[in-house]
Amino acid sequence: MDNNRYDSHRPRKRVSRKTLRRRQLTALAVIAFLVLLFVLLVAHACSDGGKKDGGKKNNSVTTITTAATTTDPAITTTAVTTTATLTDPVNKSDFKLDKYSVFLEVGESDMPRVQAYPDGTEEADERWSSGDPTIASVDNIGNITGVKPGTCYVTLRSASDPEQEVMIKVTVRGDSTDDTASPQSNTAEAPEPPVYDTEGLTYIEGVLIVNKTYGLPATFSPGLEPICYQQFQAMSGAAAKEGLSLYIGSGFRSYHDQELIYDNYVKEDGADMADTYSARPGFSEHQTGLVIDCNTIDDAFGATPEAAWLAEHAHEYGFIIRYPQGKEDITGYQYEPWHIRYVGSKLATKLYKSGQCLEEYLKVDSNYD
Ligand SMILES: [Zn+2]
Repeated sequence: MDNNRYDSHRPRKRVSRKTLRRRQLTALAVIAFLVLLFVLLVAHACSDGGKKDGGKKNNSVTTITTAATTTDPAITTTAVTTTATLTDPVNKSDFKLDKYSVFLEVGESDMPRVQAYPDGTEEADERWSSGDPTIASVDNIGNITGVKPGTCYVTLRSASDPEQEVMIKVTVRGDSTDDTASPQSNTAEAPEPPVYDTEGLTYIEGVLIVNKTYGLPATFSPGLEPICYQQFQAMSGAAAKEGLSLYIGSGFRSYHDQELIYDNYVKEDGADMADTYSARPGFSEHQTGLVIDCNTIDDAFGATPEAAWLAEHAHEYGFIIRYPQGKEDITGYQYEPWHIRYVGSKLATKLYKSGQCLEEYLKVDSNYD
């Protein structure tokens, strides 16, 4: 190269030290740029993953990624949702117990000890109840007694702060014939849901109705009803025996949660469109505590074996597919294979057999006019 430096006869090949240096610098700059680009791409990919993980604080939260699939009346989207639906029905309270599951023989007793109370709650505020007293009873200090083989939940609530509740899974062991009988046959009747003694609720033929015509007071906030939760657990246990996975995508939602969700949809799609798939605050059935959205809460769920199983078996556990296909004009909502409402197995079976939706059965409207 040095030879060329002074070769004035071959000007094209001549490369001065300055030019050479410039070329080297350019090459270095290109390499540096490529390295930087690579680092940025890797960093970007990592931060996306982080955001998704951060949003999914527990497995009961489903993050919806596209607007096209979010069609639940009270559904969740990314940012809003995470705050709105982080309601793990079991572990949402500040009660700390020494055990959360109890195994008993019939006639045997056991008592979970409270190790920590929520703020403002003390021993005298303990309110114990059994989801199914025919399986296990509980007294007012939390002494649980096995009555007959089966599984149920005992709930500890705070009298001074009813939002604070914790559930204990109780398994009462029986002989082997009972164990083999229970998986297939769900002949044990799913009880009717409790009747809430609250002003402003509409009961028709003993059924709490919430749709576009019948709303709920903003202050009504019962949390996920223990019977609803317990029956869902029984149902998902039966599905699991057939290799299927049913889990809670979304459960109870307060008036305020729904306000955030609905307002968000109105901003995105306008009120007319939002009303076809999202309930206005005070009109979401999720506020009753008797509703669960299963799994991924999107149209894709409808094509899964879980959805097919749910449609065939939900009534055995006391649930109905609340917004069936072909009933959109009557329910006021798009078809939602994932949204189930607890009504008890008597009514659920009646609706399953007749093919009616709840509005048809109760002869009521669902519109905002
Ligand atoms: Zn729903």
